[in-house]
Amino acid sequence: MLRARLAVIAFLILFASLHGARAECSNPKMALGVSRVVEIDASTGGIYGSVSRQTKQPTFLKPKEVVLTFDDGPMPWITRSILDTLDRHCTKATFFEVGRMALEHQAVTQEVLARGHTLGTHTMTHPFNLPRMSETAAADEIERGFAAVGLAAGAPIAPFFRFPGLADSSALIDYMRTRGIAAFTVDVVSNDSYIADRSRLISRTLTAIEQRKGGIILFHDIKSVTAKALPDILAALKAHGYSVVQLRAKTPVQLLPEAVAEVTVDDGRTKRRRKQPFYAPVEPDRAAATSALRGYMRKKAGAGNRSSNSETRHQRRSPAAHHQDSIQKSSP
Ligand SMILES: [Zn+2]
Repeated sequence: MLRARLAVIAFLILFASLHGARAECSNPKMALGVSRVVEIDASTGGIYGSVSRQTKQPTFLKPKEVVLTFDDGPMPWITRSILDTLDRHCTKATFFEVGRMALEHQAVTQEVLARGHTLGTHTMTHPFNLPRMSETAAADEIERGFAAVGLAAGAPIAPFFRFPGLADSSALIDYMRTRGIAAFTVDVVSNDSYIADRSRLISRTLTAIEQRKGGIILFHDIKSVTAKALPDILAALKAHGYSVVQLRAKTPVQLLPEAVAEVTVDDGRTKRRRKQPFYAPVEPDRAAATSALRGYMRKKAGAGNRSSNSETRHQRRSPAAHHQDSIQKSSP
């Protein structure tokens, strides 16, 4: 077991150094590359990007700069294609992975890091409206997501988080500030969750980027159309004089030991039980998808209200105590 683990680590180091050696881009004239790296100090938390009603951090981007971000993966057959496209452009992105997806596809999570990208998280199971859940349940989703992605990566990951559905709240941002976690919303939505046609996704994304003159761009690495459209989108960005900024964390996230213990136990169960993606595909029928989503959110809101009520009956306690609680609750 230990020997196998050491072999994997050796492979990853070799893989990383091969990619490092390829740092001199083979096709610099055509490749987007990385124009600069922005180091984010997440110790004071905060939220970056424009699509949020909360108080935002000042932008770190200049006109015609973009940050490439991918949510909801990893999904091997799509994420790997996206990684190949990014490699061809000698450029780097940030991946906000869902904890249970990372546990299911650990090799891909490790590949994202080994290929020089930044790894953030996007909760454990992708509930669509964290602010409507009880504070305990929401904190649990955030902490278990970091623990799962960190465990799958087998290496330090960034204290970077994206709210599912971009549904944030000042209370949760305050919570994350206490944990030294920065949240990232977006400036440009590619809308790849709803657009199944490659050409339409390319033109819609480029128009949205042009309107804002760059920004943090949201894609999903669980959508095959995204993998198909990305080569043309990146080529067009290069042709129109855009440059890519890579996000890096000043220090890695500190995982909560309780959350790590919990997802380690959960991992055994997920392997047997959860073979489906965390939510149903939402393309190409947008109306059906929207109505399914509304039903899901109503159900979730009902559950959230119930747990909020029970939360008020109990004294608020530390996140660690909350985790202990959930471990006990989930025990048979
Ligand atoms: Zn998402």
